[in-house]
Amino acid sequence: TSMGSVSIPPPASLLRPLETPQRLLSGPGPSNVPPRVLAAAARQIIGHMHGEMLEIMDDIKKGIQYAFQTQNNMTLAMSGPGHVAMECAIFNTVESGESVLVAVNGIWGERAAEIAERIGARVNTIVKPPGGYFTKEEIEQALVEHKPVIFFLTHGESSSGVVHPLDGIGDLCHSHNCLFLLDAVASLGGSPILMDKQGIDILYTGSQKVLNSPPGTAPISFSDKKMFHRKTKPLSYFLDMGWLANYWGCDGKPTRTYHHTGPISGFFTLRESLAILAEMGLENSWNRHKEVAEHLHKGLESMGFKLFVQEKHVRLPTVTTITVPPGYDWREITVYAMKHHNVEISGGLGPSSGMVLRVGLMGYNSNKANADKVLEALREALKHCHKSKV
Ligand code: PMP
Repeated sequence: TSMGSVSIPPPASLLRPLETPQRLLSGPGPSNVPPRVLAAAARQIIGHMHGEMLEIMDDIKKGIQYAFQTQNNMTLAMSGPGHVAMECAIFNTVESGESVLVAVNGIWGERAAEIAERIGARVNTIVKPPGGYFTKEEIEQALVEHKPVIFFLTHGESSSGVVHPLDGIGDLCHSHNCLFLLDAVASLGGSPILMDKQGIDILYTGSQKVLNSPPGTAPISFSDKKMFHRKTKPLSYFLDMGWLANYWGCDGKPTRTYHHTGPISGFFTLRESLAILAEMGLENSWNRHKEVAEHLHKGLESMGFKLFVQEKHVRLPTVTTITVPPGYDWREITVYAMKHHNVEISGGLGPSSGMVLRVGLMGYNSNKANADKVLEALREALKHCHKSKV
């Protein structure tokens, strides 16, 4: 071939039509997207700085304030998945050399600790095995010892199935001059969180769990303005809340300046997801997740499964962890459910790998009929998967 002509042919796979299966996304996320939200994704896009877009972003901001139960002005949606919100929270509130305390009872604390380490923080952890949680006394002892500027806690530990009790932790942090950062990616909308009343300083979630939007946007809110009086700029330009607050009209300035091109379709869908939650009401959503989880748990126990989290009051209603039944290979069970029932069941993650099966029923997916589909898939899996002598 001569210079100027292509030598790499168009890939044959791209010349075939797109195919995607229909399945029940009953793993720890993403969850299925309801028709109204899918329809929002199919709308023609508009410019990211057009007046109509800025109004939609204002709607999103109000929807997040409702979902988080906060009056914080510094409330917006990140362009990106939950990890982007995680990094935004830590990058903006922590400077190199500062002390950070992270509660690790599953993979999310591990990751938060690594993010803080990467920006040069002095990171200390308190650690529990998966399934565990922390008492206020344990948290206070670590606050006294390490004098952190921020304390990271996971509300819904999707790798272990624990929902962490929140009462008193915000006050405890504040009495030790520490910000309280809470990860609610897997729990927001499915389990009660009252950001302002519970003294949560930074809270974030993801679009793809209880909110039932496609992955790719992440609501976040900050109570604190200390982050705008830093000695150094945040290490990431993209995640700089100074810029993001202006893009979202949260900084009181009369004009918004281009920072990056937001995911327009993702904002359309997030607006619709937040509208569905507003119409349903938070309490109804919390109650429905609790009822459906209890229905699932009862069914699992009646089939002889053991729930991984012993204490009922800390079982996460959105993501249920089941002890891998003795003699079975967890992977074979998940493969069976997917292949024969189109039902997604997940294995463990990070510290819970090999220990659990995980079932998520979130938002639109949270109903008894879906719980029954999961139970049926698991019943059949136990019949058909190999069981060794134990
Ligand atoms: N935190 C928790 C508790 C999660 O469950 C997840 C997603 N599984 C994340 C953070 C990260 O979210 P994402 O995959 O959207 O980056």
